[in-house]
Amino acid sequence: DNLLSLTAPLRERAVKVLPGGITRSTLFVAPHPPYAVSGDGAWVTDSTGHRVIDCNNNYTSLIHGHNNPEVMAAAAAVMTGGTAFGLPTEAEIDFAELLSQRVGLPSWRFCNSGTEAVMMAVRAARAYTGRDLLVRFEGSYHGTSDAVVASDSPGIPRGLAADVAVLPQADAETFTALMRRRGSDVAAVLIDLMPNRAGLVPATQEFAELVRSETERHGALMIVDEVITLRLGIGGLHQRYGITPDLVTAAKIIGGGFPAGALGGRAEVLEPFNPLGSGRVGWGGTFSANPVTLRAGQRAMELFDAAAIERLNALGDELRQGLVQAGVTATGFGSLTRLHHPQTTGLWWKLYEKGVLAGTNGLIALSTPMDTTDTAHILEAIVSSYKELA
Ligand code: PMP
Repeated sequence: DNLLSLTAPLRERAVKVLPGGITRSTLFVAPHPPYAVSGDGAWVTDSTGHRVIDCNNNYTSLIHGHNNPEVMAAAAAVMTGGTAFGLPTEAEIDFAELLSQRVGLPSWRFCNSGTEAVMMAVRAARAYTGRDLLVRFEGSYHGTSDAVVASDSPGIPRGLAADVAVLPQADAETFTALMRRRGSDVAAVLIDLMPNRAGLVPATQEFAELVRSETERHGALMIVDEVITLRLGIGGLHQRYGITPDLVTAAKIIGGGFPAGALGGRAEVLEPFNPLGSGRVGWGGTFSANPVTLRAGQRAMELFDAAAIERLNALGDELRQGLVQAGVTATGFGSLTRLHHPQTTGLWWKLYEKGVLAGTNGLIALSTPMDTTDTAHILEAIVSSYKELA
């Protein structure tokens, strides 16, 4: 209550110029979230001076937390020489090489967000296959473009539904039936192997393999959306399943804290974007592949090497074990955990008061500056919040 009254002056100004007082629907929490002022390492300070350990990390994107000196130095080194050019830069070659090596897909294109990466993936798949139908799974979030938002949402053209099939999550039967019936119309199957909004439960090995084999059989592409899950392995979560997708979308951690997105794929699948080729899919993006994002992102990814990934995943596994032992339902994998309390808003505020910034849906994303002291604090805050809400 005290926090709300202290932020009232900002809120009053905000609601006059922003619908509901906020830009990003995804981080709204009733009646209104506090205002961030600064971040350092794993911590964020809000406008009232309250300090919270950051388990939101700008929706999983700040893999090294705030103000990592090496990432900031990489960005600053570029900025003094210009932030964006009407010419390509070497930064985009360097970063594409790094991503190719890590993800195991040879061809890359950069953009500014996960939403754009998914849009570009869908465009690539349709251009490459000459087919229109996109298959995706109910409850998985893939950003805000028309094709991946529920067709009954306001603002989505009704006609769009004809080219998008939305199937129940992880249901082998409906999936195979759809592929049997319409396989030759399918441009791509879009899958998140651990969909946050659908509960943050990893796909089974069988289902991941089924999507791979069915798409291959019918000449459709498999797009794995690794916008959140890239942090779980050196080249993302799909590598743990031993499958090779045709296209992979990335964003969040690859920007080092700056706006970023990328699409990786087999060379021939991305060939439609080749201005010298026959495909001729035009796709610009004034700030796509800007060198500030790319140099910061490259440094962030270099620092997030196999050892760092393993350490952070182990820290997350330990946190989930602690939660389960305390009777708290927690899903996820490695550094990503999701809580499933029915009082989503109540839990968010309880945690915030106790010094923990979570995702508005109960997502807990760890960052490399954290250690076991931090996770002990996080565990304690979650367990005591659950008790108080009971
Ligand atoms: N795909 C997935 C799996 C996501 O979680 C998100 C964002 N949370 C997106 C796509 C969209 O990314 P962005 O918010 O950068 O547009």
